[in-house]
Amino acid sequence: MCPVPLSANRRLRKMIVILHPDTSDTDPGYTKLMDYLANLRNLRIKTHEISGTEQKLTEIYLIGDTSQLDKSQIEDFEVVDRVVRISREYRVLGRHKDDDRASHFDYNGVRFGQDNLNIFAGLCAVDTPDHVEIMMRALNEHGLVCTRMGAYKPRTSPYSFQGHGASCLPYVFELAGKYGIRVIAMEITHDDHIKEINLALESSGNPTGVMLQIGTRNTQNFELLKSAGRQRNFPILVKRGFGVTLEESLNAAEYLASEGNRNVVFCLRGMKTNYGDPHRNLVDFAHVPVVKQLTRMPVCIDPSHSVGVRSTAPDRILDIFHATSQGVIAGANMVLVDFHPDPASALVDGPQALSMDELPWFLEDIRITRAAYEARCKLAGG
Ligand code: PEP
Ligand code: MN
Repeated sequence: MCPVPLSANRRLRKMIVILHPDTSDTDPGYTKLMDYLANLRNLRIKTHEISGTEQKLTEIYLIGDTSQLDKSQIEDFEVVDRVVRISREYRVLGRHKDDDRASHFDYNGVRFGQDNLNIFAGLCAVDTPDHVEIMMRALNEHGLVCTRMGAYKPRTSPYSFQGHGASCLPYVFELAGKYGIRVIAMEITHDDHIKEINLALESSGNPTGVMLQIGTRNTQNFELLKSAGRQRNFPILVKRGFGVTLEESLNAAEYLASEGNRNVVFCLRGMKTNYGDPHRNLVDFAHVPVVKQLTRMPVCIDPSHSVGVRSTAPDRILDIFHATSQGVIAGANMVLVDFHPDPASALVDGPQALSMDELPWFLEDIRITRAAYEARCKLAGG
């Protein structure tokens, strides 16, 4: 059963017409189909093109009351591969009945999917080039190609450090290139930041890639979501809003996709409530499989911002490690986690940062849990 309450407009039926790969809009069969669709009454048509490295996919969204349409009649058109009726709210990113569309994407040589796991360990906030280099060297030594580096920090107090902004990008990107880092998760709080990142990457010769991060405070900043969704250069990590429903947060992801960018990863990072005490937020990683059931997005967990403290249980395992395992054993596809070479001097979120000597332990702990998840999938017949 669907755990998200049905909203009224979900009852409106929609359809996606999926064309054969590499169908061109100059193909006579395409024109024939579009003429037919244009003559249907009370329907809006929206076309999405997805250009991958190997092929171009075209999906045509029929929006309005499609209940009278004959699915098989549309499937008879030469250029049509198949037609999917959309039963849920999340038209673009949702997982619909008979929907076998991909649940992964590739970016800068890294695969992001519902079936694999990437670890993004790094600095909550960039402070010094030295710390960035220590972090990236350690990642490289452990074979990791992704990291997190905060340049633009949304802070509760206007007097707190706001991040170095564009000024740190040149050395962050250059060091990433030096240590083989392929993707950096980096929060943006304004659409100007997208331009700054683009510019800095270009002028340094594109030594790395960036995954734009929409933070929990901006999950419902619809104009920022639209700007991020309109650009196609970078994939986007959108965090769950800390005080809104899961449905509302999944709609933030849908904003990105409806503007054209479907390379979206959804991140759980805990909910703001005192019921989570003594943790910073109430860990919500039981929603990993729920998000995978409702959508085709890879799901990230952020144990650092969920737990927020470095406490250790009597079993000697840090609460942050325990929370990470809870997400990974439930099938999480990405882990976003704060590390720092000198947590005591970190300018943002030092109390939750793991130290460099904990990196191998953390990675081994994840390896054990991921193997357990894979064994669980086998047991379930997968
Ligand atoms: C962060 O990842 O640095 C961050 C600020 O996270 P959140 O938006 O989840 O608070
Ligand atoms: Mn932080």
